[in-house]
Amino acid sequence: MRRGSIPGSSGHVRPVRKLGDPGLATPCGEVTDFGPALAELVEDMYATMYAAGGVGLAANQIGVPLRVFVYDCPDDEDRRHLGHVVNPRLVETGGVTVRGPEGCLSVPGVEAGTPRFDEAVVEGVTLRGEPVRVRGTGFFARCLQHECDHLEGGLYLDRLTGWRRSRALRAARKAG
Ligand code: ZN
Repeated sequence: MRRGSIPGSSGHVRPVRKLGDPGLATPCGEVTDFGPALAELVEDMYATMYAAGGVGLAANQIGVPLRVFVYDCPDDEDRRHLGHVVNPRLVETGGVTVRGPEGCLSVPGVEAGTPRFDEAVVEGVTLRGEPVRVRGTGFFARCLQHECDHLEGGLYLDRLTGWRRSRALRAARKAG
């Protein structure tokens, strides 16, 4: 990368929007401008994700209503996956449904067993407009589905039902 080898090293950490922010509940729009502002946004998203200790971040989590997410996330075999997707579409899901622990930088201090497909494929483009296809399994597949949900205006809490949902919402309220 021209801006330095570590993604986010030239980015600015932005405040992460929290549960209740209307931007988190609104579907994001397609990116149409692939200029320098997009590269800056992606850099800021990496910087913010790392500062917050997350494994993924969607643009609307920092108040930008565009279809972009970044990730630096291990899978169940401890392989590291690092990158970003602009205008992502979840084109395939498969494998068994696994209920595993999931959390979100927008819902700090809360974690809940959330059902997700064990395999997921996302297609989109890079910040230069080149096509990308990202395939994930295990925890990384969970991450891809989680970030796609954000861009549709969803949260992982929406995937919970019954006592898990009530308990997570209660914990979120308690955490402020
Ligand atoms: Zn999240």
